[in-house]
Amino acid sequence: MKLSQKMARLGTEGAFKVLMKAQALEAKGVDVVHLQIGEPDFATPGNICEAAIKALGEGQTHYCNSQGIVPLRVEIAKHIGQTRGISVDPANVIVTPGAKLVMVYSILALLEEGDEAIYPNPAWPIYESLINFTGAKAVPVPLREELGFRFDIGELESKITPRTRLIVINSPQNPTGGVLEEDDIRALATLAREHDIIVLSDEIYDRIIYEGEPYSIASLPDMLDRTILANGFSKTYAMTGWRLGYAVVPPKLVKPILDLIVNNISCTTTFVQHGGVEALTGPQDSVLEMVNEFRKRRDLIVDGLNAIPGISCHKPKGAFYVFPNVKKLGMSSKELADYLLNEAGVAVLAGTDFGEYGEGYIRLSYANSQENIKKALERIEKATAKFAC
Ligand code: PLP
Repeated sequence: MKLSQKMARLGTEGAFKVLMKAQALEAKGVDVVHLQIGEPDFATPGNICEAAIKALGEGQTHYCNSQGIVPLRVEIAKHIGQTRGISVDPANVIVTPGAKLVMVYSILALLEEGDEAIYPNPAWPIYESLINFTGAKAVPVPLREELGFRFDIGELESKITPRTRLIVINSPQNPTGGVLEEDDIRALATLAREHDIIVLSDEIYDRIIYEGEPYSIASLPDMLDRTILANGFSKTYAMTGWRLGYAVVPPKLVKPILDLIVNNISCTTTFVQHGGVEALTGPQDSVLEMVNEFRKRRDLIVDGLNAIPGISCHKPKGAFYVFPNVKKLGMSSKELADYLLNEAGVAVLAGTDFGEYGEGYIRLSYANSQENIKKALERIEKATAKFAC
C-alpha cells in the first residue's frame, strides 16, 4: 500500500509507546512504577460527572453546534476574560475534543510548504510533528536549563525570517515544568507584532502553577488578534479521558477552523460539554487540593532526585513534571529510560522524546502517589549507583 509522503513526517508521543512497553512487562508479572504518564491521577470531581450524567438523562446525546454549545462558550469567554484581564467574545471561542485538536486545526489552517514555524525544544512532541506534517519548516528554539527552561529571547529573535508564520509557546511547560516570565512574554509580543507572526499559546497547565500567577500573551495590547490561546479541561479537572479542550482564536480563524471541524469530527460530544460548564461554574476546591498535593510531590521528587549521585534536578514552577539532568550518568537519555524501565521497573521518558535539546535529561511525571514516588526514587538510586561518577 502506498501511503502519502506526509505520513512519514508525522511524529508520535513517547508516553504512549512507553506505556505499552510497561504494560507488556506488567503482563509478565513485573512491578512497574508509572512516572511516564501526563495525566492527573485524581478522579474527575463528582459534581462534573453528575452534570454530564444529568445531561445524558436529559437527552443531550445528539450532534450540537460545531463550534461548541453556547453555555460552554459563554463560560469559557468569561473565565479567560477574567483570568487574563481582557474581554473575550464567545463568538471567538471554539470547543474541541481536547486541546490537542486546537494544535491540529490551527497548524493545518495556517501552515504550508515554504512557511516556517518556531517552537520550543524540548517540548510536547505534537507541535514539531504537526508542523512537519504540513510541509512547513519546524524551527526549534532551545529551552535552557540555566534559564529555568525558558528560551533566550535574543536566540528566538535570531530564528525569525520573512517566512516565519507561527511561534508556539507553552507555559507552564511540558516536559520541563518551566514557566515563562512576564518580560519574556512582553518581548515575544513585540516581535510578533513587528514581524506579523501568529502566536500559538498552549496554556493547558495554567492552573497548575506553584509560584505567582500565570501570564498570558493574550493579555497584551492587540495580541488577542494574533494569538491562538489553547486550553482545556484535561489537566485542571483531571478530565483527560473526557476529551474536552478549547481555543480562543482571532476572528479570522474561526471559519477556517470550523471548516476543518465539519470535515473531521463534526462537533465535540454534547453531554461532555455540559460537564465542562459545571467544571467552570462549580466549586474549585478540588483544583486547589490537587495543586497542593502536586506541590508536595514536586518537593519530594526534586529533593529525592538531587540526593542521587549523578542526577541534578531543577525545581519546576508549574505543571507536574520534572526534567532532571542525567548527563553525569554517562548514558544517552534513551538508554537510561530503557534501563530504568527494564532493570528497575520505573517508567520514565527520555528527554529526546521531546526533541533533540532533551538529550541529557529524562522526564518524570509526579502524577502518582507519594508512596510510589518514594518507591521509584529508591529504585532509581539503586539502579544508577554503578554509573554515577
Ligand atoms: N498541550 C500540552 C503541553 C500537553 O502536555 C498536552 C497533553 O499531554 C496537551 C496539550 C493535550 O491535552 P488534551 O488532553 O486537552 O488534548
